[in-house]
Amino acid sequence: MGIFDDMARGGHEQVMFFREPTTGLRAILAFHNTVLGPGLGGTRMYPYASEEEALEDVLRLSKGMTYKSAAVDLDFGGAKCVIWGDPRRDKTPELMRALGRFVEGLKGRFYTGTDVGTTPEDFAVAAKECRYIVGLPKAYGGGGDSSVPTAKGVFYGMQAVAQFLWGSPDLKGRRIAIQGVGKVGEKLARHLHEAGAELILADVDEARAKTVAEELGAQVVAPDEILYQPCDILSPCALGGILNEETIPRLKCQAVAGSANNQLKEPEDGHRLHQRGILYAPDYIINAGGLIQVADELDPRGFHEERVLAKTLAIKESLLRIFALAKEKGISPAEAADHLVEEKLETIFGLRKVRPF
Ligand code: NAD
Repeated sequence: MGIFDDMARGGHEQVMFFREPTTGLRAILAFHNTVLGPGLGGTRMYPYASEEEALEDVLRLSKGMTYKSAAVDLDFGGAKCVIWGDPRRDKTPELMRALGRFVEGLKGRFYTGTDVGTTPEDFAVAAKECRYIVGLPKAYGGGGDSSVPTAKGVFYGMQAVAQFLWGSPDLKGRRIAIQGVGKVGEKLARHLHEAGAELILADVDEARAKTVAEELGAQVVAPDEILYQPCDILSPCALGGILNEETIPRLKCQAVAGSANNQLKEPEDGHRLHQRGILYAPDYIINAGGLIQVADELDPRGFHEERVLAKTLAIKESLLRIFALAKEKGISPAEAADHLVEEKLETIFGLRKVRPF
């Protein structure tokens, strides 16, 4: 199978390869769909085992960005970049500047910022060569830590879950298990503690889980037990692929609502959860707070925290609409969300046939 076959299978429109020998930069940029606007997506740096693995990852991630932007009504297309290399060994300021020069050359077709293996500070360096950088620290004119709106969005999403399942958004007394108390998980735990929820936490960094738990009066369990805790809501805030053929039959929760990207290992896993009567809040909607913030930096009227908060709050209504649609059609919320996005892309594609001049 060649690259064109892979692109055809995923519905991608463009793939670009960057190579800069003095810094050792090897990067791949994929545009999945730019119907809604210029590509917006982070740049991941990872020691992929092969070129094929890097390509597969960038194709999957860029498609995810199309769905995420469309689902929360942002006029950006789906794109993503991956740097093939080990961030601990190969990342240098010069390599980030080299990436910046390539992105600058695209003249605004692609905006990027941090992802796994890259930091906002790396992009402060790339920004020396490039105007199309988002998600910078506040000191560099950016919106700051994106895990703040991401955690808020997940909290509002859980309120939607509570509203749909139990008739009230109140999370008081609800038992919630959080997998991973990193940047998002810890902030989420604090919101839930304030709302009176009962928390169970786990992190592979057990000292970290213990510190957060002591402060919030939460229970700590081993990382390999967290998914199977009897609880109202399970909140994956660490890894992707954790909802699968093996784990789903063993879950003891009524709903899954968390920040991790790509929680479903395969599309069928959305259906598996549905069959078990577990309500799933589609990850690309509930975790969109961070994207909402970086996209706001590009608003021609300037960045506004109030608008970021309002759009993040709207995640609750979006999820309620998706749950209602799924119920009405007898499909899973994951399928309902995909349908809504695909319909929207078709409608916007249609109306853009109108020439405005
Ligand atoms: P992070 O690296 O700060 O936190 C992840 C935490 O999970 C770490 O504390 C890590 O030790 C822990 N962890 C890893 N494997 C684990 C396991 N098997 N069991 C329990 N804990 C484990 O990352 P983050 O920024 O908090 O992001 C969390 C998730 O949310 C990621 O999947 C990320 O892609 C996604 N996400 C983050 C944002 C954001 O704004 N930061 C936005 C959208 C999605």
